[in-house]
Amino acid sequence: MKGNDIERKITIIGAGPAGLKAAITIADLGGEVLLVDENPYVGGQLVKQTHKFFGSKELYCGLRGFEIAKIFEEEIKKRSNIELFLNACAVGLYLENNKKIVALVKNEKLMKITTDVLIIATGAYENFLLFENNDLPGVYGAGAVQTLVNQYGVRPGKSCLMVGSGNIGLIVAYQLLQADIEVKAVIEILPKVTGWYVHYAKLKRCGVPILTSHTILKAIGKDEVEGAVICKVNRNLKPIKGTEKRLKVDFICLAVGLTPFTDLLWQINAKLLYIPELGGFVPYYDENYETSIPGIFVCGDVSGIEEASTAMIEGEIAGISAYEKIYGKRKETEALKEKKKKELFALRKGPHSKKILIGLKKLKNGY
Ligand SMILES: Cc1cc2nc3c(=O)[nH]c(=O)nc-3n(C[C@H](O)[C@H](O)[C@H](O)COP(=O)(O)OP(=O)(O)OC[C@H]3O[C@@H](n4cnc5c(N)ncnc54)[C@H](O)[C@@H]3O)c2cc1C
Repeated sequence: MKGNDIERKITIIGAGPAGLKAAITIADLGGEVLLVDENPYVGGQLVKQTHKFFGSKELYCGLRGFEIAKIFEEEIKKRSNIELFLNACAVGLYLENNKKIVALVKNEKLMKITTDVLIIATGAYENFLLFENNDLPGVYGAGAVQTLVNQYGVRPGKSCLMVGSGNIGLIVAYQLLQADIEVKAVIEILPKVTGWYVHYAKLKRCGVPILTSHTILKAIGKDEVEGAVICKVNRNLKPIKGTEKRLKVDFICLAVGLTPFTDLLWQINAKLLYIPELGGFVPYYDENYETSIPGIFVCGDVSGIEEASTAMIEGEIAGISAYEKIYGKRKETEALKEKKKKELFALRKGPHSKKILIGLKKLKNGY
């Protein structure tokens, strides 16, 4: 392993919007940083997003996710103090004195990175759902379908049942229509649609049935999905007998939430708290995004499921904090951090952030 051992001051795991912004911020302050990602490209989730983003100009509103990823790619290339490892998956994390040791599989070879400061920006993974036959080929996560259709131009089928009416369910359902795939219905177990009205309205205009207070009972098929049975649920979200309905579809798409990708944090015994509003177990972190392990920072979806816009600002704050840890605090860094905190605060003022704010309060109080 010796030939592959390297030492760095600051390392970031994950080149999604959070990790990318952290790297750019550190570089622009004059620091050196190593950024690693398991994919052969940068951008994380952005790469598969073909819809236009909302928000402010600074946060790339009006651009499509994959266009934002391209901008990031160019920005990274421009900065010689950002070292980028792609096809590089962090598979282990260990602590040795004050150092952090990352076991990395890069181009199928194991290597060891010893780093003083580490930013974990690993994002999230998709939730699954329990129902009969949920292991039949043709039952997908919505993110996986988005990757197939938008990134690789592969249609997973001709007609789909979308389970879940959050933003991801609504956006992916619309993108399936754009790919000439029939969306038989979007079903939602709660009595109302949980995603933004703008995404809901687009589907409604296209005549897609959006059935609230409905769930999936089973997937039908022998070797692959040939249909689904859905039904109405009562106030306690329990199936109502006699309301079952068969839908003929050849794939089922689950958009039932995301869970923060905290595996590396568990390995080092970092403090994690169960906060449903933030997506499940999330690392405890302070106002500088430093976890319970000194010198290890988090940002983006791994610290709580939210959005690319907030992930980017969190990345900037974590980046400034990581920089300060190595190169020391300056008036300029402190002022920039305060500015970013205010921007984040402003971004979370809308009604959609209510749940996040409850979760963050619990996190602050150590729940
Ligand atoms: C369908 C959909 C639509 C969305 N629409 C919007 C929108 O309109 N506006 C908005 O603001 N947000 C939107 N979001 C949310 C947004 O995409 C995410 O909140 C954002 O990408 C989170 O950024 P991140 O950097 O934390 O994580 P990610 O983008 O998930 O990036 C994490 C990166 O880390 C890598 N990684 C993970 N583990 C390892 C490891 N062990 N080693 C190496 N690399 C690793 C991953 O491969 C990935 O590249 C949408 C999300 C989806 C799924």
